[in-house]
This record gives sequence, C-alpha cells and structure tokens, in this order.
Amino acid sequence: MAEFLELESQDGVRMPWNVLPGTKQEAANCVVPIASFYTPLKSFPNMPVLPYSPLRCRTCRSVLNPFSIVDFVSKIWICPFCLHRNHFPPHYHSISDENLPAELFPQYTTIEYESPSEKSTVPPVFMFVVDTCMIEEEIGFLKSALSQAVGLVPENSLVGLITFGTYVHVHELGYGQIPKVYVFKGSKEVTKDQLLEQMNFFMKKPRPSTGVIAGVRDGLSQESIERFLLPAFRLRVCLEFGLRGASERSLASISRSKGNKVHWHGIECGCTSIGSMCSWFWG
Ligand SMILES: [Zn+2]
Repeated sequence: MAEFLELESQDGVRMPWNVLPGTKQEAANCVVPIASFYTPLKSFPNMPVLPYSPLRCRTCRSVLNPFSIVDFVSKIWICPFCLHRNHFPPHYHSISDENLPAELFPQYTTIEYESPSEKSTVPPVFMFVVDTCMIEEEIGFLKSALSQAVGLVPENSLVGLITFGTYVHVHELGYGQIPKVYVFKGSKEVTKDQLLEQMNFFMKKPRPSTGVIAGVRDGLSQESIERFLLPAFRLRVCLEFGLRGASERSLASISRSKGNKVHWHGIECGCTSIGSMCSWFWG
C-alpha cells in the first residue's frame, strides 16, 4: 500500500493497480477496473523547477519526459504518446547516457518549468466538466460548490463549463445574457475535428490546411475562443444560466445514462476543447 501512497505523493496520481495489464486477457480478468485519479495543481513541497521551456513533440505537443525512448547517437527522442520521432534541438547536443537533461531523470516524473520567455503572459485556464445526472435537490448544492470552486481559482483565470447527463453540453458563456449551448449525444464519440466544426470555430477564420489546430497561435481566432472561456468572475453569473434546466434533464436521464459512455464523452469533450483552445498556453 505504501507504494500507492508514494506514487500519489510524487505525481498526484492514484490508480487501483500499480501495473497495467499486458494483454487483452489480463485486462478482461481484472475484477477492479483500471482507472486513475489525477489531482491537477497538487502542491509538492520538493517540486523540481527547471528554468527553461519544455521540449515538445512536433506532432502531439507532449513534453519530453522520463518515459520517452531516447537515441543518444542520432539525438532523437520518441514520443511515448504518439510515437513520433523528434530531433533534439542543437542546445541538447551534449546529451548522453551519463549526461541527461533533468527532464529525463527517472525520478523527475512531475516537474515544473519556469521559462523567463513564457512567463505569465497567459492566464491559467480551468474547464469545469460537471456531471448533472442527479436529483433536483442536489443541483442547488452543485451550484454552490461550483461557485465556491470558481471563487478559489486565481483572479486572472479563464474558466469554461461543460455539463453532461444523457447529452454533453458545451456552454458558450461569452454569449451575453442569453444561454447558448452546443449539444452532443453522450453515447456518440465526437472527434476533435468534428467538435471544432460543429462549434463554429472556422466561421470567420478559415481552417488551416495543415498542422495541429491549437489555440490562437495555431489556427483559431481569439474571438472564437473567448466564446467558451470567460474570466472567472464572470462565470459566477453564467453558472445560473448554465445549470438552469439541468435538473429536469438529469431526472429523466439518470436511468438512461447509467452504463453508457456519457461520462467518458463528457470528459473527452472537455479535454478536446481545452486542448484545442488553450494550446497557446503550451506554446
Ligand atoms: Zn507525440
């Protein structure tokens, strides 16, 4: 058990298993499903801070980390997420088995970067992905818990809201006092491209023909992003609108949504949205 607690205190990740099944059969034999809880922004007293920018995968923008496979001779690292082979930039030329950059130290699975060039020009972004599949009485508690949570995020934060019951609702918060929502069926998988098209991200600015769509630096207009991400103080007003009617939907949807993939798609929508809109943050 100590091993699980140690992992959580090191990376903020809690899993029911400390190894992943190697085959489909092993996965099928798992009585307790594989899952993970991640605590974002968990404070670590001895967090290593590197005074430069992270090295990113050219394809998926993941960051070089101790799980990447490195070819020291060719000066190439393989992204463990998309398997793209990335060349190290010239200032990594002296890298070797004995001379590793800190981000490849095996024990540095969670680190912070504090680059002087990227410093604090962009506010933190929080996307609230909320399960509204509950009885009406609980909606009031949900609203107050959310207001409290919004009150705790840093003043300059940008905040977005996605709710899900039988359907996934992506709230267009920057649409004045009139609530506007994009609705996706909870049981249907939506790709990032479909999501961007259906949420009208390319109404005023044509879609780039190549490359990753990610934030204002890569394909999206600031205006289209601001429809979904509001300064935190404005979200409190919008929460009222965002959650209005949630209970009616949820009452009917409790039995229907049990066992379907709506939870996953709600979270997936959140990840895709934040990945598409906020990548200016990641450079
Ligand atoms: Zn990658």
